[in-house]
Amino acid sequence: MTQLKSLRGMVDLLPDALQRWQAVEAAAREHFRRSGFGEIRTPLLENTDLFCRGIGEATDVVGKEMYTFQDRGERSCTLRPEGTASVVRAALEHGLLSQGPQRLWYCGSMFRYERPQAGRQRQFHQIGVEWLGASSPRSDVEVIALAWDLLDRLGVGGLELELNSLGSIEDRQAYRSALVGWFQERRDALDDDSRSRLESNPLRILDSKNPDTQDLLESAPRLIDALGSDSRERFDSVQHGLHDLGIPFRLNPRLVRGLDYYGHTAFEITSDQLGAQATVCGGGRYNGLVEQLGGPSTPAIGWALGLERLMLVLESAASKDSSGPAARLTEVPVPTAYLVNRGDSAERAALVLARQLRRAGLSVQLDDSGASFSKQFKRADRCGAKQALVIGDDEIKNGIVRIKVLQQQASESTFSLGDINLIVDHLKAS
Ligand code: ATP
Ligand code: MG
Repeated sequence: MTQLKSLRGMVDLLPDALQRWQAVEAAAREHFRRSGFGEIRTPLLENTDLFCRGIGEATDVVGKEMYTFQDRGERSCTLRPEGTASVVRAALEHGLLSQGPQRLWYCGSMFRYERPQAGRQRQFHQIGVEWLGASSPRSDVEVIALAWDLLDRLGVGGLELELNSLGSIEDRQAYRSALVGWFQERRDALDDDSRSRLESNPLRILDSKNPDTQDLLESAPRLIDALGSDSRERFDSVQHGLHDLGIPFRLNPRLVRGLDYYGHTAFEITSDQLGAQATVCGGGRYNGLVEQLGGPSTPAIGWALGLERLMLVLESAASKDSSGPAARLTEVPVPTAYLVNRGDSAERAALVLARQLRRAGLSVQLDDSGASFSKQFKRADRCGAKQALVIGDDEIKNGIVRIKVLQQQASESTFSLGDINLIVDHLKAS
């Protein structure tokens, strides 16, 4: 029979890799707790309308990448391709916004039908934050710092923060007509993709990956020059705030982000370790989205960080500095003790002892092979445990367990099997 495989672009995460994932998630959880952000979990499946209205029909995500299907009740459902629209929907559905601004974070799977390659999957994971009800330039700075400092805390180096302002709706409308006019005159020089975007979503041409289009863009009108004075002042304040925090950034007038709902601050954090999929984290301000989804006019800002790309960057950081914070994230925790046991009665007693020790908070690996003592001791050495607990027929006869410090021939203590507290104290002390 042919063996079944996972779907293309859908990846299993195995215990060794999950060591690092869990460490990253724990660091993120603590980071958000300190910053006053609360976790939110929303369903993986939503009404297709949510994303069409929230993200925009003309975007790649909605136009080409969504997993959409009819359920058995003939409703059109979509596996979430991103988190923001769902978080806003949930905040509105549960009246959270009437309680004041909401600082929320999430972590979970997203689904996009893309061409899989390193750092690009069809099911992938994001950690993200959404701050609903925050309008000041200071909140933009705080949110960017939240992403920057999380990456710093994890020991990720070689990052660059790219920053742009997309201005107000009016700024963008004026710029859009100027840009379309400019491109119309150079229509023949555009690639097919960009030409079709000229009607549907002209700003997206700015982040075309086509080298000829990129050359052409060198002389295109710039959004930054089309900003009105309020937008410009706002952008200046954000930049000053980042300076105050010592967070370096580079202005990138072509950074427009893929989703329609962004305005004013847009940013990405890229890594020089990732090749083509260089963006680890992307975000910005989306003041129009809450209203677009049927809520009261509410300013908001957020970002999402791709965990697969973060893991790639962490791997490379760990290989460069084997004792740095990134490497420490992959240290596999070793059990406190390895329980070597052989013989019917000893095996039964070992199961009881392992359970008592685990209940007392110790991590104990129980050998269930029934193999010779020497084989079991080899395994004990290999798993890295510092101590071995030994129960065989002799020990059972005397009602004892021996505790050996591994890799030290002489060091051995003996305890009565009933003195569980003494055994726990001994194991904890050494
Ligand atoms: P890209 O330009 O690389 O397609 P994007 O602009 O579509 O990224 P966002 O929607 O801003 O990405 O998502 C935020 C982050 O989520 C990205 O910076 C990236 O780290 C991650 N991400 C997005 N799509 C994928 C994917 N298909 N596989 C893995 N990670 C992804
Ligand atoms: Mg994309």
